[in-house]
Amino acid sequence: MSLKFPIYMDNHATTRCDPRVVEAMLPYFTEDFGNAASRNHKYGWVAEEAVDYAREQVQKILGARSEKEIVFTSGATESNNLAIKGAAHQYKDRGNHIITVKTEHKAVLDTCKRLEREGFEVTYLDVDSRGQISPDDVKKAITDKTILVSVMLCNNEIGTVQPIAEIGKITRERGVLLHTDAVQGVGRMPFHVDEMNVDLVSISAHKIYGPKGVGALYVRRNKPRVRLTAEMDGGGHEHGMRSGTLNVPGIVGLGKACEILVKEMEQDIAHVRGLRDRLRKKLEGALEMVHLNGAEDPWRHPGNLNVSFSFVEGEAMMMGIKDVCVSSGSACTSASLEPSYVLRALGVDTELAHSSIRFGLGRFNTEEEVDYVAQIVIREVNRLREMSPLYELHQEGVDYKTIQWVAH
Ligand SMILES: *Cc1c(COP(=O)(O)O)cnc(C)c1O
Repeated sequence: MSLKFPIYMDNHATTRCDPRVVEAMLPYFTEDFGNAASRNHKYGWVAEEAVDYAREQVQKILGARSEKEIVFTSGATESNNLAIKGAAHQYKDRGNHIITVKTEHKAVLDTCKRLEREGFEVTYLDVDSRGQISPDDVKKAITDKTILVSVMLCNNEIGTVQPIAEIGKITRERGVLLHTDAVQGVGRMPFHVDEMNVDLVSISAHKIYGPKGVGALYVRRNKPRVRLTAEMDGGGHEHGMRSGTLNVPGIVGLGKACEILVKEMEQDIAHVRGLRDRLRKKLEGALEMVHLNGAEDPWRHPGNLNVSFSFVEGEAMMMGIKDVCVSSGSACTSASLEPSYVLRALGVDTELAHSSIRFGLGRFNTEEEVDYVAQIVIREVNRLREMSPLYELHQEGVDYKTIQWVAH
């Protein structure tokens, strides 16, 4: 098989829709176009039936007890907003304290920031050098005022998996709600809402080979029964938690994406893990000073390889490998020169943070692609290092960090 360019290895940003998902969605744009809320005719019933079926497919992948616990949304940004603001506003009489983590997705962090402006208090927990929080820190941070803990299952930049099951034991014991942004983790590792004692779970279709603009929020209905204040007013859809006409084709796509993952999870994980390990082995075999950002298995997303190459600037590297789609932890293209806040929270030094590249392997990547990418990344790292005066000094045995630079 010949390679198709550019090669896509940015599967944490989004994934290609699985053709089986597209096929399942298509009839709901044309023949079966009904509004799932239309109770009086066949078009409505057919659409409602499709939505009900998708709800069961999502229920299964999360291990939820009832399909009623699934609320469809426009994606995980909305799910995170609804979970956190919805719980905060619902339970504000019980307390005003929320606990989260410095390396969460912006959809969680910015939601918490807004709540702070409303008078809520938020604790942002630190992570260790691999990006993990300690369950003990959660325990210590909980006060009588704590109503919610929000910790992601798996990080989108560095792939670190958080010890959700252990955190869940603590929050359950203390009667505090636990929300997890499971966007990157679901389908990539075992996950079950009861085993993990989570009460609210956000997922997104486009990160699991489904369409963009659709997601879901799991809301526990039993032990405890979680109530959320709706963030949007309207027709009272989704048990009053999320008004708005349902995106029937999108929801069908999300359901199908979950169904495929439930059936093929093991082989999917083995496939991406095999590719990731092959890429890592090739890079580490050919290059010195390749630093892994994040944790090792089993605390790592099977398709995530985030590495920093000493003496290489991430943005320059990206220019040199233009026919490969990856992400850089360097934010030089944006207005700020700050590197990724996730890498900084790990304590990765600024230069290494700027030199980080995130490879996100997915279902549709091949060994042939990995071999090609490894080859051109190795070539580019070597080329950039040859041009670097600091690398030259390093090779001569000079620790460049101790040099006193003189301004002219
Ligand atoms: C992509 C992503 C989101 C946002 O999901 P959307 O459906 O694109 O809004 C939230 N959290 C994590 C961890 C993500 O990777």
